Amino acid sequence: MGWSWVQLIPDAGYLNSVASYVHGTIQNWPSSTRAEAAAIYAALSVFPDDSTISIYTDFQAAIDGLNLCASSSYTNSRLYYKSTNFELWASIESSIRSKRLTVLPIKVKGHDGNYWNEFADSLANSAHYSDEASLLPVASYTSSHNVRLVYDTIVCESNPRRLFKLYFQSTFLKDLLSLRRFQFVYCLYNKDDYVVDWDLTWFTLNLSLAHDASFQASHATRHYTFKFKLFLDDLPLLEKLKITCSDLYIDLLTCRSCRDHMEDLMHLILCSKCRSVMHQILQSYQNHLFSKLREAGEVADMDPTPMLRKLSSLSCWTISSSNWSSYALIQGCLPTMFIDLFVDLSIPRQSAMKVVAAIHNNFIQKLRKRIWNPRTYDKSKWEDAMNITLKLKTTPQPSNSPATSYVPFSSLPPLTHLVTPCDSEVDWIKNSMTQGWDVNFYSGRVIHYYVSIVASTLVGTYQEGRSREI
Ligand SMILES: [Zn+2]
Repeated sequence: MGWSWVQLIPDAGYLNSVASYVHGTIQNWPSSTRAEAAAIYAALSVFPDDSTISIYTDFQAAIDGLNLCASSSYTNSRLYYKSTNFELWASIESSIRSKRLTVLPIKVKGHDGNYWNEFADSLANSAHYSDEASLLPVASYTSSHNVRLVYDTIVCESNPRRLFKLYFQSTFLKDLLSLRRFQFVYCLYNKDDYVVDWDLTWFTLNLSLAHDASFQASHATRHYTFKFKLFLDDLPLLEKLKITCSDLYIDLLTCRSCRDHMEDLMHLILCSKCRSVMHQILQSYQNHLFSKLREAGEVADMDPTPMLRKLSSLSCWTISSSNWSSYALIQGCLPTMFIDLFVDLSIPRQSAMKVVAAIHNNFIQKLRKRIWNPRTYDKSKWEDAMNITLKLKTTPQPSNSPATSYVPFSSLPPLTHLVTPCDSEVDWIKNSMTQGWDVNFYSGRVIHYYVSIVASTLVGTYQEGRSREI
């Protein structure tokens, strides 16, 4: 970020009024208030002791900050860590005190034709390309206290509670992604095509559908459970049941709809019995997105054709046994591209997430009604014929029954598969500190919850418990 200050000689007339000016840059924690505070810090550090300085700024936050300095808020307050850029402000406060400066903050209207304000703005903007502009050294403005919070090489300048929260969130996400069932995420290596947007993914998972007379609370609950089990690859598919109820489902059992293949989640997507339906509902998913993009294009008065073309060229619309992007889409790990296309059409990110989440939930509904329910019907017909009753399914296996040695069939890429994980090396915390990404791009509590469901399911599985069927 660039910053600048301009020193003026009062009443000298435009041509003679500039006494001096400096511009430069500052790293990390990007925000306009930070650039503003950096300019104040840089200006104060060059003035001689006992000066009186009038600071003209169009930023209310800078004025508030300077007023807080007057009451020693940054060196002596329990609110210290709650303020953003606290190291920078503490340095401003300590230079005011140690140099006995008198600072008078004066508010000017921004972008309102104030010549000097705009001059300073353009100086700040040109700081990135100018040889004269220097980087404000971190050590100079983070040394007003003996204690600093440092992560890796970056000094923390934002509420540490948020930082810790972010740290735990990334830990949980890492735990989740290290589960074997999420290995496929590492196969989505084409950055121009399908990169999972975790923010969108959590938002979509947590979106609860409004219920009314036609869609009652119980439907909504079932929808929610189905969506989560699908996301966690925890649906009671035959390959899962062979482990949880090894006495009822034998190793050789194949999909009860096509009777051709072992039934895991990939097969549910590929099963020949539901191929045309799957194709239809994916097509309508795409059409739904198309129509919303067209609407957005109309509102923004922009041609949506390039976005429509981009959307239809995504690999996730083509289902095949080696296409992990369609697997990711159906399972609920949604791509950044969905949101980016709307943002390109000037739709705010948050609104775009709501639109995509609603469309995806509608898709999940169709998936449950038109693919999962018929599949479960086929399976239950077979169970009836085999006399596998609900009572039998819900009674625990006798504790003395031999532990199963069956290794479930799985289409997931094997663990030995050497792919370069796209985001296993990404340090989300550092990125958020240096690039100012939104801290809440996924919710830690939610991830913790997923991980604990997965963990409890695994415990259930290995203790020969039974997962409840939907
Ligand atoms: Zn099948």
